[in-house]
Amino acid sequence: MDGFLLAYDGFDPGTEGLREALTSTGNGYLCTRGAAEWEDADGVHYPGTYAHGGYNRETTILGGLPVLNEDLVNLPNWLVLALRIEGEDAIRLADVELLGYRHEFDIRNVTVLRHLRFRDRTGRETTLKSRRFVSMADPHHAGIEWTLVPENWSGHVEVISALDARVSNGGVARYQQLEGRHLNPVSPRTFGPEVIALKAETRQSNLYISQATRTRVFRGGELLPARRTLYQMEDYIQQVLAFDVRQSAATRVEKMVAFYTSRDPAVSDTLVRAARSAARHDEFAASLGRHDAAWDELWRVCDLRAPGNDQVQLLLRLHIAHLLQVCSRHTADLDAGLPARGLNGEAYRGHVFWDEIYAFPFFNFRLPEITRGLLKYRYRRIGEARAAAREAGFRGAMFPWQSGSEGIEETQRVHLNPLSGRWEPDLSRNQRHVNAAIFYNIWNYFQTTNDLEFLDGYGAEMMLEIARFWASIAHFNPARERYEIHGVMGPDEFHEKYPDALEGGLRNNAYTNIMVAWLCDLAGKVPSLLPASSTEGLRTRLGIGDDELALWQDMSRRMFVPFHEDGIISQFEGYGDLEELDWDAYRAKYGNIQRLDRILHAEGDDPNRYKVTKQADTVMLFFLFTREELREIFERLGYDYRPDTAARNVAYYDRRTSHGSTLSFVTHAGVLAALDPESSWERFLVALRSDADDIQGGTTKEGIHLGVMAGTLDVVQRYYAGTQIRDSVLYFDPRLPGGLGGLSFPMQFRETPILVTLSGGRLTLAVHPEGASHPIRAGIPGDVRELCPGDQAVFELSQGVTANGPQAVPPPRGLLPGTRQGRLCLALAQVELVVEGDGGVDQGQVGERLGEVAELLPGRPDLLGVQAEVVAVGLHLLERQHGVVEPPGPGQRVDVQERA
Ligand code: BGC
Repeated sequence: MDGFLLAYDGFDPGTEGLREALTSTGNGYLCTRGAAEWEDADGVHYPGTYAHGGYNRETTILGGLPVLNEDLVNLPNWLVLALRIEGEDAIRLADVELLGYRHEFDIRNVTVLRHLRFRDRTGRETTLKSRRFVSMADPHHAGIEWTLVPENWSGHVEVISALDARVSNGGVARYQQLEGRHLNPVSPRTFGPEVIALKAETRQSNLYISQATRTRVFRGGELLPARRTLYQMEDYIQQVLAFDVRQSAATRVEKMVAFYTSRDPAVSDTLVRAARSAARHDEFAASLGRHDAAWDELWRVCDLRAPGNDQVQLLLRLHIAHLLQVCSRHTADLDAGLPARGLNGEAYRGHVFWDEIYAFPFFNFRLPEITRGLLKYRYRRIGEARAAAREAGFRGAMFPWQSGSEGIEETQRVHLNPLSGRWEPDLSRNQRHVNAAIFYNIWNYFQTTNDLEFLDGYGAEMMLEIARFWASIAHFNPARERYEIHGVMGPDEFHEKYPDALEGGLRNNAYTNIMVAWLCDLAGKVPSLLPASSTEGLRTRLGIGDDELALWQDMSRRMFVPFHEDGIISQFEGYGDLEELDWDAYRAKYGNIQRLDRILHAEGDDPNRYKVTKQADTVMLFFLFTREELREIFERLGYDYRPDTAARNVAYYDRRTSHGSTLSFVTHAGVLAALDPESSWERFLVALRSDADDIQGGTTKEGIHLGVMAGTLDVVQRYYAGTQIRDSVLYFDPRLPGGLGGLSFPMQFRETPILVTLSGGRLTLAVHPEGASHPIRAGIPGDVRELCPGDQAVFELSQGVTANGPQAVPPPRGLLPGTRQGRLCLALAQVELVVEGDGGVDQGQVGERLGEVAELLPGRPDLLGVQAEVVAVGLHLLERQHGVVEPPGPGQRVDVQERA
């Protein structure tokens, strides 16, 4: 790995599937795995091509029962390019001796390259270089270029260039028993001597997909006449180009491809459209040039520079590139949602979950038209969401947990446990919290863009209908005098029901209830944000009376939140009564216990019995809201929000979370940024590497984890740079981890482009004087300035500023959060103290020192919080050991051990 390059030396059948997923090339319209052009799906290789919205439903009879699934269809394989030397079998990696092999992914312009030298069975040595791209400039185009050099021979070769619709969905081993055939053949066709084309149709959804290709051979810039022969079947077409090659002379083959579906605008017959487009296709170099330029444009607005850490830099860019390959400007106009596993594989069947909550912040600040398009995917399905609510006995709109073509619930009812080989019930559709996520996403999109037209036309209606749904699924419990929500699940999928219960769902998932309290408050205010005429129209159309607004207000004040132990929010009512799991024993027995659910089920046990959490659930609250926001929500609800609420709850659930979804590392990295920077950085690195290193042991080859990739970018933006919007002001509250060194990125706030640079204890905001730029209000807490286009403002961060503001002192209670094995390391803005203590840092020593700390942090006497305590502890120990207290300077690292 280096710079913008992900590279693998040597061929490894065991990791080829992973490499294929990671080196996929896409443009936000379609995406193709980085499989070698000459290989078929065979257990090692899996050529797969997927396009937004390319779904099809099929039924499988499992044990006599029909199981219906909607899948994102593996579309015809347009890659096929194979080499035959002197009439022998086509070259495959398994049949030749590889003298050299390198597989590269150029992140800068998203091209996949293979460079191989091989010796065939008769001793001929050949170099073959392959480059390919899916055009970011023209979403319907793609191209492959081969450069062939015979090293010790001259002779006759044939290149087979084909389009192959004999494909099925077979990329996920767990789904093998389910129907994988989704395509029916329609017709192959030729258009003149050079262009071949193929049309297929999805079996149930009747979507036409056509591909056409023009293959040419060049030597030294000249077109080489090749003898062409054709072979076609109803679901396959190939052209064989035969020509001579000379020792040491490079011959180039170009396969230029065009791709259309019947979902595309401005199309009559997709086959003719694709063929015409392929015939007009530029040659490889020109087309690649335009593709490069389109990527350069994207990097100008999307790059995140992390100087000082090459690994982190590379992986951040890999994640940006993957995000843009799945959702680009080309996606904004499509009827497309954000598929959880990208367009890179078949896991989760291309379905859309809540994962977009991790991705939208990146788009909102850079390419908000993408968020807008993805939110419209939801809006177009509001009819189904209304019907779903009605059928379940509720009002408003209830969006599904897993969404596909139509917006009906696509969550399967049974899933295969690969550990036990048994099909088990899947109750995860009860994750109604996706509806809170959609509300949150609309609100945050609006906050970042001020796109009133969207709010007026689509957003407000979804928000009100979602609030209405929550109001109807909730009921008032007179005994508690609070509203409750029963029969749902939080993000933690290990808990689907109470142990031994027959019915799915839990009572009062705290994450859900608090999200509902928050959104009910906001929903009441949404109408007033719209132009008066729209407000009236919308309220009349939806039939929202004053009584309903009053109900939402009441819910925002009286939702029930369960607690157990002192100040610990119960993930759901009754969580505190569950059994503790012997984590050490399970770790010792199984090693990796991330998927404890599968382990426990395979043992005949049930995760519902234990205090075990798959992923951040309650903790998600601390990720999505700032401390002020949460305090406000809690206070409105009449619950205590203590200074240590975040720290104590995060620590409590951290100990009981297996991180069975890698999304959990993202969330924990975020919330720990303020509480325990070292631990935050550890989690961040795990999330950052999770796909590149396939830490779940085989899931990435089934598709990248788009939410996690995006989530790492969100952590950098939201936590390490500390980006927040409050009262129309763009705040930065940086908590740069030591591992980052500095950070620089372009962003856009309400149409105004800004360059953000964090380095050397300083934040610099440069406002671009271009286009729609207008003055914005931005800064750090305590120093907000109006910035006009062309302005550059510098903010000194060395005063110990934390945007989350002051916290009162928590009463002494044993060890401070963030102390592990006697080591405590917390950062206060740019000041980092590392204290090595024996057996942890005793909070009891802290209280009396706080007055002194306030003096040591000039200008911030209010800053008495977790961070201040830590400084106090650090200074206290310093004083004890050295008899001297020095205020730490900006960026200074004080290590007691070193100084002793
Ligand atoms: C996680 C969900 C997520 C889904 C798709 C599951 O493993 O638990 O939170 O939405 O994967 O990424």
